[in-house]
Amino acid sequence: MADKRDYYEVLGVDREATKKDIKKAYRKLAMEYHPDVSEDPEAGEKFKEISEAYAVLSDEEKRGTYDQFGHAGMGGFSQEDIFNNINFEDIFRGFGFGGSGSGGGGFETIFDLFGFGGGRRNGPQRGADVVYDLKITLEEAATGIERDIEVPHKQTCPRCQGSRAEPGTDSRTCDTCGGTGQVRHVQNTPLGQFASVRPCSTCRGEGAIIDSPCHECHGKGIVKQKTTIHIKIPPGVENGSRLRVSGQGDVGKRGGPPGDLYVMIGVKHHHLFEREGANIYYEKPISFVQATLGDKVEIPTIDSAVNLKIPAGTQTGTSFRIKGEGMPHLRWNGKGNLYVKVKIVTPKKISPKQRELLEEFANISGDEIYTEEKGFFDKVKDAITH
Ligand SMILES: [Zn+2]
Ligand SMILES: [Zn+2]
Repeated sequence: MADKRDYYEVLGVDREATKKDIKKAYRKLAMEYHPDVSEDPEAGEKFKEISEAYAVLSDEEKRGTYDQFGHAGMGGFSQEDIFNNINFEDIFRGFGFGGSGSGGGGFETIFDLFGFGGGRRNGPQRGADVVYDLKITLEEAATGIERDIEVPHKQTCPRCQGSRAEPGTDSRTCDTCGGTGQVRHVQNTPLGQFASVRPCSTCRGEGAIIDSPCHECHGKGIVKQKTTIHIKIPPGVENGSRLRVSGQGDVGKRGGPPGDLYVMIGVKHHHLFEREGANIYYEKPISFVQATLGDKVEIPTIDSAVNLKIPAGTQTGTSFRIKGEGMPHLRWNGKGNLYVKVKIVTPKKISPKQRELLEEFANISGDEIYTEEKGFFDKVKDAITH
């Protein structure tokens, strides 16, 4: 899977493509590579590839997961989960590939291609993973927090307990497939007979017919509901970290295990600090008098404030390190540092008295600029004059 192509590249659309663009691109390619019409020996594989890209990018939730994690993020979706939102009838409408109430006539090749007939439809299936976005402040990231979050996920319908039938009513075995959920299909071709097994269209692979579907879940056996989940976020958590809560994704189908919940943690931008790993950065404006004579200034920290001594003769852009006032390290004890960069602010408005004193200052010092060593511009000047 390492060389799996980017879904956007597969469909030839850019990352900002709208749903409409994506559908249009997919339709065009699907016509070209439909295994019933294409002469390309790899049409089947190509059709699968474009269909997978389309299935993911046309679904907001899956596209979001893919945009964040790439192919790695799709691991929680089964093949069937991925493809279940493609409406092939809609895609191929007007192109003469089956459809129009024929029970999926022209789609048989496609279903074969995806192996949907392989019997898994009737077996246990793991629930999908659920992604939940949680935004926290830098202060919360520094201390770590515990929080109750309301997670929307698919759960067994409480009314019918997943039976899909209205309580007090029964389901009956599907006559078409005899309750197996599958039908065997034999096809005569010039190369011989091919038999394939595919989901029963009468019961949609469930094996049972429900005459009175449950009112709550409309016969699905599953409802989307919110569950309150208590989560603990460790101190030092970074923007973009993900927290896995096992078993809190969607409920599995037919006794399959549930998926997992992934809490995606976003740390909000702070109005004072920039963060890089465990270190935080702060810019302190000081006057040229403070810089020249030296001073003691108060610096805010993530949870309080500390004093910083500005030595006499400090240049603008100088950084000071305040040890241990950064963010906690996530994996070991201790904290990062707080780096304070001073910025000398030139006054825009001065009083007549200040002007008088500054002019006197200028008279005494001339236009000499005090530097300890030659700066960049001095070196340039030197280079020009020599
Ligand atoms: Zn129900
Ligand atoms: Zn059936």
